[in-house]
Amino acid sequence: MVVNQSVQPQLRTPKRVARVANILPANTPMPLECDACDHEQNYSMTHLRTLPRLTCQECGDSRQFSQVELVTLDKALNELGYYLNKKA
Ligand SMILES: [Zn+2]
Repeated sequence: MVVNQSVQPQLRTPKRVARVANILPANTPMPLECDACDHEQNYSMTHLRTLPRLTCQECGDSRQFSQVELVTLDKALNELGYYLNKKA
C-alpha cells in the first residue's frame, strides 16, 4: 500500500519549526554497491563529482559513474535533509 505522507496533516512538520538542514562536507564518503558483486565501496563526493570510472576492489568490475547518478544521489540526500557543501 502506498501512503502519500503529504495528505496526512498530522505527519507534517509544524510551520514554526525551521527545517534543520544537515550540511555534509564535500568529502563525505558515499557507499556505492558494485553492480556485479554487490561489494560496497566508499567514494567521496568530491571524487564522484568528477564522474570517475569506478572500479570494484572485490571483483575488478568497472563502470562509468554518470551525471544522472550524481544528480539522483544529490536529490536522495536532499530528501533526507542532507545538503552537500559545494566546496571541498
Ligand atoms: Zn564487484
